Amino acid sequence: MSALEWFAHKSLGGGIYWIQERFYESGNRANIWLVRGSQRDVVIDTGLGLRSLPDYLRLAGLLGPDCAPGEREKEPEGGGGGGGRRPLLAVATHVHFDHAGGLHQFEEVAVHSAEAAALRRGDNYETVTWLSDSEVVRPPIPGWSARQFRVRPVQPTHVLQEGDVISLGDRQLTVMHMPGHSRGSICLHDREQKILFSGDVVYDGSMIDWLPYSRINDYIATCQRLIELVNRGLVEKVLPGHFNTFGAERLYCLASNYISNAGICHKVSTCAMRSIASLALRATNSRVTS
Ligand SMILES: [Zn+2]
Ligand SMILES: [Zn+2]
Repeated sequence: MSALEWFAHKSLGGGIYWIQERFYESGNRANIWLVRGSQRDVVIDTGLGLRSLPDYLRLAGLLGPDCAPGEREKEPEGGGGGGGRRPLLAVATHVHFDHAGGLHQFEEVAVHSAEAAALRRGDNYETVTWLSDSEVVRPPIPGWSARQFRVRPVQPTHVLQEGDVISLGDRQLTVMHMPGHSRGSICLHDREQKILFSGDVVYDGSMIDWLPYSRINDYIATCQRLIELVNRGLVEKVLPGHFNTFGAERLYCLASNYISNAGICHKVSTCAMRSIASLALRATNSRVTS
């Protein structure tokens, strides 16, 4: 199957595209966001990486025009492929397999410092790799099986910290370190457009805080920051890591509901869930490596 068949996209306007892997039918199927800028394009999350996302972006004509000869040298931050090709940066909101599986296909990769080592090692425990044959309804290549699937080790070219600004030329994305779901989870905030790319920090569904590197106390602090963004009028639209987009009011609800439910009962049940998830992930990933 070609890369063109594997993905589908929809334009949200303003140079933002929503991309999905058509044949990964699972609640874990992540949203992939392409944000085009005047100088550089950024892909936020990359899906499983079963087919080439960069090929898809080019073949579907989603990337901006390549730079004229000599223009690359003038760019303050460089990046991207060789020749006159326009810079294309893949940013992982976190290293979980459904978001980071395709990072190895990109020349320029950014991830938060707290998860950079896991990505370099290709640590499939920390990436919570969990894929079954039944979820991938058409094999990407003949004979493919989910048991072979791994998040490959990737050397990030950019290691991100809280407050870093990723410049696309005419638009800037500010990195917010928002741990809780995972230790290196980030949101990317376009302050001018009041858009928040939220990854798995918040989406319109129940928030997952029982994975090996989840931390409830961090998640509460993260939710307080989300509420503050709403209170200060800094977010109007959330483009999440899963499911549909939503607005500020829903963001406020999701964040405040998490805080009010994160009591002692929740902590006890989460602790049990985390133990079960850890055992299952260790078993699966030892099976894959053996
Ligand atoms: Zn995740
Ligand atoms: Zn996810």
